[in-house]
Amino acid sequence: MLYLDHAASGPVRAEAREAMSPFLGDRFGNPSSHHTIGEDVAQALEDARRRVAGVLGMRPGDVIFTSGATEANNLAIKGIAVAALLRRGRPGHVVTTAIEHESVLSSAEYLQRVHGVAVTHVAVDGDGLLSPTALTDALRDDTVLVSVGYANNEIGTVQDAAALTAVTAPRRIPFHLDAVQAAGWLPLAGTGADALSLAGHKIGAPQGIGVLAIRGRVPLEPLLHGGGQERDRRSGTQNVAGAVGFAVALELAERERTDAAARATALRDVFVRRVCELVPEASLTGHPTRRLPGTASFTFAGVSGEAILLELERRGVVSSSGSACAAGSDEPSHVLVALGVAPEVAQTSVRFSFGHHFSGDPAPIADAVAASVAAVRSR
Ligand code: PLP
Repeated sequence: MLYLDHAASGPVRAEAREAMSPFLGDRFGNPSSHHTIGEDVAQALEDARRRVAGVLGMRPGDVIFTSGATEANNLAIKGIAVAALLRRGRPGHVVTTAIEHESVLSSAEYLQRVHGVAVTHVAVDGDGLLSPTALTDALRDDTVLVSVGYANNEIGTVQDAAALTAVTAPRRIPFHLDAVQAAGWLPLAGTGADALSLAGHKIGAPQGIGVLAIRGRVPLEPLLHGGGQERDRRSGTQNVAGAVGFAVALELAERERTDAAARATALRDVFVRRVCELVPEASLTGHPTRRLPGTASFTFAGVSGEAILLELERRGVVSSSGSACAAGSDEPSHVLVALGVAPEVAQTSVRFSFGHHFSGDPAPIADAVAASVAAVRSR
C-alpha cells in the first residue's frame, strides 16, 4: 500500500522511538519529583525543551509541551485573548481567516460565544493567500490577537509569514502561527511570530504530543489548572517520552528539510502535471507555486471524491478527501468553499500528501488516479 496521507499523520521515526524507549521503561519518574529518579527525567525533559527551542529560534522557557496541536491552538487563542480580557477589563477583537483548521476556528467561536470577543475572518484570495493589505484592513484598535495558519492542511497554500508579522509587530499585536503542516518543509525560525503551534505526528514523533512556543512577553492565561507544570501555563504531568521523541524528530526534520523539500517539490510537480494531463476534470486547488512541497490537492468536478478514494485504495494508494478531521462528514470543505469553489465541486476533492522520505516514481500514482476517476465516471 502506498500511503499518501502524511498531512493527516505519519509514522514515528526509528530515531524518535529509540530516544523515547527509556522513558517507557526504566526512566519512569515524575519530572516534578524531588528525588534522583524524578530529576533524571526532568533533565531529559529540559533537554528536549532546549532542542525544540533551538530549532524554533526561541528560548527554552517559551516552549510549552501539550497533548498536540489542537491543544496548542486552543491554548494560544483562548489563552492570549482571555489574558487580554482580564488585563483590559473588556473583550477584545481576534483576527483569523476562514480557511483555518477547526481547532482555530472553534476556539475563536468559543471566545465569541462565551466571552463576547469580536472575531473577524479575513478573506483569502482564490488560491488561499492572505494579503498583508487585507490583514492591515482587518485590524482594529482593540485587536488582541491575529492567528493564521502557515501552510493550509487541505490545499497546501503557504502564507508569507514574515510579511504578515511585519503588519502586526509595529502595532504590538500578538501573532500566532499554526505551523503544524509547515514543520519539516518550511523554516520555522525567523517568521516573526510570537506564538507557534506544532504537532508531533506530522514530523515523525508520536500522536498525542505537541508544542505551543510562545514568547515570554506575551501574557497567556492557562487552560489547564493544577500542579503548575510548564511554568504554570499548562498543568499536568508531562508526556516526557513524547517530548523527547518530539525533540529528536523535529531536529531531524529540520536537518533534512531543504533536501526533502526540493525532492518532494520536483516529484509533486511531475505528479500534478500528469494528473492534469490525464484527467480532464482535474483542477489543482491552492496556490500553484506557494504551496507545501509534499501536498497536491485536486477537485474532480462531477466525480465523487469519496468514490475516487475507494477506487484508489483498491489500486493500492491511500489518500484523503482533505482534512482528516472533517472525514466522515458530508459537509463540503470549509476551506474550498472559502476560496469560492462551489459546494458540489468542493465535495469532489482529493488530497495527496507525500512524506519526507518519498522518492518513488510519481507517474504510476497519477495513472492510478486517472484509472480511478475513469472507473467512477463510467458507473
Ligand atoms: N492545525 C493544523 C493545520 C492541522 O493540520 C492539524 C491536524 O491535522 C491540527 C492543527 C491539529 O493537530 P493535532 O492532531 O495534533 O491535534
